[in-house]
Amino acid sequence: MSVKKVAILGSTGSIGVNTLDVIRAHPDRFQVVALTAAKQIERLAEQCIEFNPAIAVVADADGAAQLSRLLQEKKISTQVLYGPGALVSAVTESGCDTVMAAIVGAAGLVPALAAAQAGKRVLLANKEALVMSGDLFMQAMKAGGGELLPIDSEHNAIFQCLPDRFTKNPLDHLGVEELWLTASGGPFRDMPITDLANITPEQACAHPNWVMGRKISVDSATMMNKGLEVIEAFWLFGLPLNQIKVLIHPQSVVHSMVRYRDGSVLAQMGQPDMRTPIAYGLAWPERIDAGVAPLNLTQLAGLSFSEPNLAQFPCLSLAFAAAKTGGTAPAILNAANEIAVAAFLDEGLPYLKIAEVVERTLNAVPSVSAGSLETILSADTKARQIASDFIRDIR
Ligand code: NAD
Ligand code: MG
Repeated sequence: MSVKKVAILGSTGSIGVNTLDVIRAHPDRFQVVALTAAKQIERLAEQCIEFNPAIAVVADADGAAQLSRLLQEKKISTQVLYGPGALVSAVTESGCDTVMAAIVGAAGLVPALAAAQAGKRVLLANKEALVMSGDLFMQAMKAGGGELLPIDSEHNAIFQCLPDRFTKNPLDHLGVEELWLTASGGPFRDMPITDLANITPEQACAHPNWVMGRKISVDSATMMNKGLEVIEAFWLFGLPLNQIKVLIHPQSVVHSMVRYRDGSVLAQMGQPDMRTPIAYGLAWPERIDAGVAPLNLTQLAGLSFSEPNLAQFPCLSLAFAAAKTGGTAPAILNAANEIAVAAFLDEGLPYLKIAEVVERTLNAVPSVSAGSLETILSADTKARQIASDFIRDIR
């Protein structure tokens, strides 16, 4: 068995830490060769001291100086780099064969694309990258010749429920009729939207089943997360949008399903613990211990499923609309959402204004064909400006 060399983009985040947890249990299988973080320098230093990667990347020169100091004290020889370009170096110059793309948001797009182009095994958690540039990203994966393994639990579940040969065949040739993405509905599933005006970041981040980063936790509360995931599924699996459905499933035990023409529905189940899809992606096609407790079905009170109420989750409707429009609309949706969620988390933007900012931005920035990275990044920049202007007006 050859040892896989792994670069983790976003190693200090929720997915990054869970990835290191799985790797820690399998030193015979995996070697960490690059770690990256934006600002959590001390946490990154601890990770470098434990895993001794060839390269570590932080956001800026100050952070790099601090990290270098902490590593020198412990005589760790990791090369410390900084800035967006260095994230690409972590992929292309660390000697990795596997890249965990776990930076949150648009900041993860360029290094994820670099991993695709370089023919790496790409473990894709950073759904925003695919939402922004699905067509380009899938083309880059094809040209690079690497393996794309979805880490988002729903897409990982669907991947597990499809036959191996799906990458070479359109799903309808394999008898697939529909993909069913499950959604917990988040912390406000049963609350009327009129009761959500004064929701605080702490309430929005208190997800009932999953422990995640703050941005995706807010996205789960608004269900923008599920909207982004529909777009993600569209690019990953190549099925028309009207064959991708969302089901509310509050228990988060069935992680998603595939409905076949012959009446079969295949589901993947498990604990709501991201180490399962992470271990699956790392070791595929083998299965390794993920450190996850076994699922005990007899202890569950029941499993329930229902259709989402779009009036209660305007962000989900906006994502469906942007998906339908296509072109740069999903990138515009994503950028406006990132700005609005950050303003909600850090600047007191009212919770219900998140959807309003996204809607106004989508109306203000025209969608064009998403044929090049430049076009996508310019739509992203424009949408961020417009969304920030709206937020300033609101206050
Ligand atoms: P997080 O906020 O916990 O971690 C984000 C990581 O990205 C950190 O290491 C941070 O340092 C880094 N980062 C943030 N901004 C950066 C920037 N501008 N430049 C470089 N690095 C930057 O987020 P998370 O919950 O781990 O989510 C990561 C990605 O995985 C997201 O795209 C999310 O949608 C996806 N995802 C997460 C979960 C989950 O359970 N947490 C599940 C499914 C998908
Ligand atoms: Mg998910």
